[in-house]
Amino acid sequence: MEFSGVRALVTGGARGMGRCFVEQIQAGGGAVAFCDVDGEAVAATADALHAPGFACDVSQEASVQRFYDEASAAIGVPNVLINNAGITRDGLFMKAHPETGEPVMMDVNRWQQVIDVNLTGPFLCTRAFAAGAFRAKNPESVVVNLSSISRAGNAGQLNYSAAKAGLVADTVVWAKELARYGVRVGAIAPGFIRTPMTEGMKPEALAKVAAGIPLRRLGEPTEIWLAIRFVIECGYFTGRVVEVDGGLVL
Ligand code: NAP
Repeated sequence: MEFSGVRALVTGGARGMGRCFVEQIQAGGGAVAFCDVDGEAVAATADALHAPGFACDVSQEASVQRFYDEASAAIGVPNVLINNAGITRDGLFMKAHPETGEPVMMDVNRWQQVIDVNLTGPFLCTRAFAAGAFRAKNPESVVVNLSSISRAGNAGQLNYSAAKAGLVADTVVWAKELARYGVRVGAIAPGFIRTPMTEGMKPEALAKVAAGIPLRRLGEPTEIWLAIRFVIECGYFTGRVVEVDGGLVL
């Protein structure tokens, strides 16, 4: 796809990597609209970047459809969707209570919240996007899913690993099912990237992580953007995952 013809939706675009992607699409001459769950953050980013931004919870069907409709009115029928919104609610599946010795299990809310945002969210957004692209007879459309190296199974991230692995499976299914309608689908699996998500980690923990990465540092959002841009522009890419992790294997 020619970058100048891009009309992109970015979920979770008010902060972190999503905000970087909005800026990069603008800088490349594409049109872009974004959403985020926090209305104040949306307004601040929309103002700062002069980009149409909408409050939307990607885990809620009606909210997603509203975002799709409002964004389409602002930039035209989208031909790129970046499923970026995501959360972590880390914790062990089971640990022994320090006093009673009883098993303490991951609670259902912690499991469900991450599945809702990180897996149901992309399902709902891709559904609205693919239906719109089909109706408008878009000659080419591209979906980019933000997975993670944690999809391989990271201790302390049962919920997140399951969602990110599921998203890669969905990438393959969508690639197979939607190719006939001109839709390509790719996933990016970042390692540790410098964003509010990782800035929430303790400095000692971050230093330990960086020491275990062959390139000895966290990645930058702009380095993830390069992979997304490749997926958008390379017309022969679909159904695969690009790993951008400084060489780190979990
Ligand atoms: P981030 O800084 O936490 O940004 C994610 C954005 O998504 C936030 O603005 C967040 O809003 C928003 N969001 C959360 N729940 C939402 C919902 N229900 N509907 C709409 N928006 C919602 O995260 P990031 O580090 O940029 O990560 C972006 C993506 O890359 C995520 O999918 C993440 O899992 C993935 N990833 C990140 C890393 C990393 O090292 N940073 C590594 C691998 C994969 P709030 O802040 O208000 O919650």
